[in-house]
Amino acid sequence: MLTEVEALERIVATVSPSPVIHLPLLAALGRYSASDLTASVPIPRFDNSMMDGYALLAADSRAGAPLQIVGEQPAGPDRQLHCRPGQAIRILTGASVPSGADAVIMQEDVDSDGRTLYCREPVMEGENIRRLGADLCRGQIMLRRGQLLTPGRLGLLASQGSIDVAVHTSPCITVLSTGDELIPPGTPLAPGQIYNSNGLMLQGLLTQLGISETEARHCSDDLNTTVQLLKVLIQTQDVILLSGGVSVGDHDQIKPALLQLGIQPDLWRVKVKPGKPFLFAQTTRPADGRPVLIFGLPGNPVSSFVTFQLFVRPALLRWMGAGETSATTIPVRLTADLANDGDRPHYLRGEIQNGFFRAHGMQQSHALFALSQSNALLRLAEGEKRHAGDWATALWL
Ligand code: AMP
Ligand code: MG
Repeated sequence: MLTEVEALERIVATVSPSPVIHLPLLAALGRYSASDLTASVPIPRFDNSMMDGYALLAADSRAGAPLQIVGEQPAGPDRQLHCRPGQAIRILTGASVPSGADAVIMQEDVDSDGRTLYCREPVMEGENIRRLGADLCRGQIMLRRGQLLTPGRLGLLASQGSIDVAVHTSPCITVLSTGDELIPPGTPLAPGQIYNSNGLMLQGLLTQLGISETEARHCSDDLNTTVQLLKVLIQTQDVILLSGGVSVGDHDQIKPALLQLGIQPDLWRVKVKPGKPFLFAQTTRPADGRPVLIFGLPGNPVSSFVTFQLFVRPALLRWMGAGETSATTIPVRLTADLANDGDRPHYLRGEIQNGFFRAHGMQQSHALFALSQSNALLRLAEGEKRHAGDWATALWL
């Protein structure tokens, strides 16, 4: 059985970033930049005033003599004013600093009758002036390939006059829930049935990754049906996210169905708890030869969730061109003793609060309620024992 590190390496090695497209800035929110981008418009674009006040020569403010107010420069078109010794120019925040002036005094620090200005405080040369390029120079790299397009970064691109940005395409994904016991939420339950909760949970996890247009389908535990459905999905999808049916039960049809389609899984079963039956396979789309990734997640809800975090998430992030694909880690202290007596690394579910990690309720792979209360995973290696108060590293969900 592969370790979770070997499994992840094997999966990620098969994935390459998807084709590049240009999207309008807002539509690119949550995607990853496909190129390094260089600034063409510096920030600030020109020397401008940080305050409402008066542009002048700093030396004049120190002399304390009255200054003649010779004009006004609001934000907007540059009036090409010039400030001579003994003069001041009314200026407003964001307005370009008139030539000749080397400082701005804020209006709270002067007395003025509209024509003559008296400085109550001296200003230093450069004071209250935002210098051209001080934040971002022309030619400076402002966005790296693989960086997430956040609202702040989209704003930065807009400040450059851009209207679109190169990103990677988003994958077409079908979440295929398998199991004869499953029925869709919203319909009455008969004895022996349960609601399909993995379908929605996995679509939610995909949406959190920025992949919102996903399709959810269901498949019975019948080999022929599974083969036919997979055959159809392979024609159109980039990724097939299966839940259930990957174990060794008589009704687990995923592996036999893949083999019947001539697809040999790249890996099956990983030394991890929960999630041991996890499967990964790949094939190519007949129409265009593009790769199709097939993830078989165990049906138990917590196993599905954890294997999504460990294996699916990094692979999809790489697919979408993300530079950073690993989970955010947070140093925490433990509220209680924790031990893993098993022979596989155990990813405990729990809650981080004020820097402390508390494992939540039932740590079994069907315990969806305990999972729903959790915001972090904590890995305990085989045989590992930790004590209350110990420092540990948690994975932030
Ligand atoms: P399986 O991996 O198909 O053997 O399923 C393992 C356990 O997970 C069984 O108890 C299933 O009823 C349950 N299960 C499988 N699929 C789902 C699903 N989509 N939603 C909720 N529970 C599921
Ligand atoms: Mg099943």
